[in-house]
Amino acid sequence: MRTEVSQSPASPYDAAQTPQEPPDPHLIQALGELLAKGRFAVLTGAGISTESGIPDYRGPETRRRARNPIRFADYLNNDLLRARYWMRSMLGWPRFAGASPNQAHLALAEFEAQGIAFGPITQNVDGLHQRAGSLSVIELHGSLHRVRCLNCGLIEPRSLLQARLVETNPWVLAHTAELGPDGDADLESEREWLERFVIPTCLRCGGVLKPDVVFFGENVPHERVEQAYKRIEQASALLVVGTSLAVFSGYRFVRRAWERSIPIAIVNLGSTRADGLATLRIEGKAGEVLEALRKMLNASLRNDANQQ
Ligand code: NAD
Repeated sequence: MRTEVSQSPASPYDAAQTPQEPPDPHLIQALGELLAKGRFAVLTGAGISTESGIPDYRGPETRRRARNPIRFADYLNNDLLRARYWMRSMLGWPRFAGASPNQAHLALAEFEAQGIAFGPITQNVDGLHQRAGSLSVIELHGSLHRVRCLNCGLIEPRSLLQARLVETNPWVLAHTAELGPDGDADLESEREWLERFVIPTCLRCGGVLKPDVVFFGENVPHERVEQAYKRIEQASALLVVGTSLAVFSGYRFVRRAWERSIPIAIVNLGSTRADGLATLRIEGKAGEVLEALRKMLNASLRNDANQQ
C-alpha cells in the first residue's frame, strides 16, 4: 500500500503560523496498524526539529538559500575558516541550545517508554530527543552539545565553551544574525573580524577543539553504523520522520529495512529519496502527525486493557 495526502502549505515556517487541517484520521489509523505489529525502529532528521525553531537544510524554505557547511579539511587547515565557524556558532548557540522538544520528540519518547518503539536513530545534533526523554538515542552525526580536543580527546560541554568564547570575544555580540542549521548563524564576516577573533583551545593541552559532530568529509564511526543496523534488524517496521534522506548516512538504514521487507512509513513535508521504498507516506508536520498517532495508539492500548 502506498498512500499520500497533502496537508501542508508551501513552507514549514508558514505552516507554523497558519491554522491547518488536522491529520487525516484514516492515514493515522493506517500508520498505527503498520507500526503496531511489534517494536518499530525510528529514523529522524532535521525536519523533526523545525517546529522547535531549528532550521533544516533542505526544507521548502531553507533549500533556496545556498549553504556550504564547513568541510573537515578546511576546519583543520584554515585558521580563518575555523574562526568563522566559531564566530557564527557563538552567535547561533543561545537560540540553538534554548530550543525545546516539540510534540514529535515527546511522542517518540513515550513510544520508547511503552516498549512499542526503539529509541530513535537520529541524524540530528541538537539533543532534543534526549531532552524529550528518549533513553537509547543513536546520534549518527554526534552532538553539538559536546566539544572534543582533536589532540588529547578531552570532552568539554559546549555550554562552558560558550562562556569562554564570550569572555574572549565580547565584541562579536554586537552583531546580530539569523539562526542557521547546525547551530550556526548567517553572518557575513569581514576578514579583519576573523583575524581579531580568538579561537578557544583545549583547557588541558592547548590543542584544536572541534564540536563532537561528523563534519562533511568525515565518516560516521563504524560501531555507530553497526549499532543502528542492529536496531533495524530487530525491528518489525521503520518510521522515518523529517528527513529528505539526501544524505546516504541516513538513507542506508531505509534500504536495509526495505531489503528485510519490513514496512516503512515516512512522515515528511515534501518528497524524500526513499519515497519509492515506502509502504505509507504521510505528507504532514511531524509534531501534528506524531501527536495524532500517540493519541490513537494510547486509545487502542486502553481498549486492549479494558478487554482483558
Ligand atoms: P534535510 O534538511 O535534508 O531534510 C529535512 C526534511 O524535513 C525536508 O524534506 C523538509 O521539508 C522536512 N521538514 C521540515 N519541517 C518539517 C516538519 N515540521 N515536519 C515534517 N517534515 C519537515 O535534513 P536531513 O535529512 O536531516 O539531513 C541534513 C543533515 O544536516 C543531517 O545529517 C543533520 O546532521 C544536519 N542537521 C541537523 C539539524 C539538527 O540537529 N536539528 C539541523 C539541520 C541540519
